[in-house]
Amino acid sequence: MIVVMEKGALSAQIANVTARIEQSGHQVHISEGEERTIIGVIGNGRPLDREQIERMDGVERTVPILRPFKLASREFHPQDTIVAVNGVSIGGQEVIVMAGPCAVESREQILETARAVKEAGAHVLRGGAFKPRTSPYSFQGLGKEGLRLLAAAREETGLPVVTEVMDPQMVPLVAAYADILQIGARNMQNYALLHAVGEAQRPVLLKRGMMSTIEELLMATEYILSHGNDRIILCERGIRTFEPYTRNTCDISAVPLLKQLSHLPVVVDPSHGTGKWELVEPVSRAAVAAGADGLLIEVHPHPEEALSDGAQSLKPARFADLMRGLRPVAAAVGRTL
Ligand code: PEP
Ligand code: MN
Repeated sequence: MIVVMEKGALSAQIANVTARIEQSGHQVHISEGEERTIIGVIGNGRPLDREQIERMDGVERTVPILRPFKLASREFHPQDTIVAVNGVSIGGQEVIVMAGPCAVESREQILETARAVKEAGAHVLRGGAFKPRTSPYSFQGLGKEGLRLLAAAREETGLPVVTEVMDPQMVPLVAAYADILQIGARNMQNYALLHAVGEAQRPVLLKRGMMSTIEELLMATEYILSHGNDRIILCERGIRTFEPYTRNTCDISAVPLLKQLSHLPVVVDPSHGTGKWELVEPVSRAAVAAGADGLLIEVHPHPEEALSDGAQSLKPARFADLMRGLRPVAAAVGRTL
């Protein structure tokens, strides 16, 4: 349930309601909007009498929450969450583009890509140091050396860095180098990992599992939120369907749906979402038109030589074209880029 306080409710009235809820063994989550304060009730305390709460001073009404996700829900937190990372705000007016190679392969490769995406207007550099590969015989990433190279690219370009963490024990190491911790599609329901990033002092990019529903994605965010980290960016990266012509089916409808259900920013990864570089630009436009707060795009200076995901990676010049083409789309939906 949430308790909606009256406009201009006094802090003593809010404290009274909070104390009443906590006495029943629940926790509260307070959201202070411009006009009014909303008190969310979470946890498994004794049943609360809604009418009793509604009779308390300063309370306008109570609303039962029927959905299983709470901290992630719009009802609990009506205003948009904006995740700020080193001068970049994700979830605000500007559409944020995170771009870079699937995997960090060498110093030259990551620096060349970082310079090119920065020049084209990207805001964040992506690149995997620890790669979750379907085959144990495929390139697994450079590991710690990859993290060091990402930090060197940030040093030179000023771009914040997003990179994947696959193991709860590695969270402190990856957080020491990365500005944003990526949870990959395969790990969306790795609850030990969600717990660990929930305790980390870093924003989290949480990718939708390739076989996960929207509700499962939001329940996964609940693990991170309930461990104290509310800087979460949701990522639609395509789901597995019967269609073999694309690697995944990029679910554009997830964007407005997630924005309705949740206050968290939503980005789209058209690279994994389609698996084909030719489809990345049109699907990027569709994502921005549908209200995405950002994009995650794979760019490689020589896709034909890439150690992973070359078929879906853009060359830098095509990425620059994509950025130019996106600006009018962003403007058409009242955003900047
Ligand atoms: C990636 O971003 O390179 C990646 C491995 O993505 P996903 O987890 O969505 O497959
Ligand atoms: Mn990839």
